[in-house]
Amino acid sequence: MVSGVQMQYYKVCKRKLWLFSKGIAMENEHERVMEGKILHERAYPRLEEREILVDGTFKLDVLDGEYIREIKISSKMSEADRFQMLYYLYELKKRGIEKKGLISYTKERKMEEVVLTPKDEQAIEKALKEIYAIVHQPSPPPLKKLPYCTKCAYYEFCFAIEGDD
Ligand code: SF4
Repeated sequence: MVSGVQMQYYKVCKRKLWLFSKGIAMENEHERVMEGKILHERAYPRLEEREILVDGTFKLDVLDGEYIREIKISSKMSEADRFQMLYYLYELKKRGIEKKGLISYTKERKMEEVVLTPKDEQAIEKALKEIYAIVHQPSPPPLKKLPYCTKCAYYEFCFAIEGDD
C-alpha cells in the first residue's frame, strides 16, 4: 500500500519518490520525519485522540470525530501536504469513514481545511497508478533540477552522482 509520505513525494519530485521507495534513506530525511512526530506530540499533548491505523501503513489522529489532523512545520509544501491529506481522506472513505482534514502550519500559525471532492478522488486514483508504475521502474526517473532540490535530503546524492548542471 502507498504511504502518505510516498503520496507527498509524488507531488514534490518523482525521483525522490523512487529513491525513498527503494529504501535509499538519507539521515536528514529521517530526522525530518521524526521532527514532525515530535512537533505533533508537543502541539497536542492533552487533546483526546483516537488513532486509526489504516492497513498497518499510516496512523491517523481523529480529533473531535469530524476531522483528521496533520501538523506541518511550514506551508512551503502546502500543495503536497494537501494532496497527502486528500489521500488519507480517500483511503478512509473507501473504508466507509467520511472525514474532513485539518492541516496546521505551526510557523505561520494557520490552519487549512481539506475536503475530498469527486474530482480529488479521481486525481488520487491517477496518482496511485502512477506511483505504482514509478516505484516498479528499475532505475530512478531522470534528474530534473527543481527549486526544491537544495532543501532536499537527496541533494548530495542526486548531484554528486549525476553532476551539477
Ligand atoms: S535533489 Fe531534487 S531531483 Fe533529487 S530527489 Fe531531491 S528534489 Fe528530486
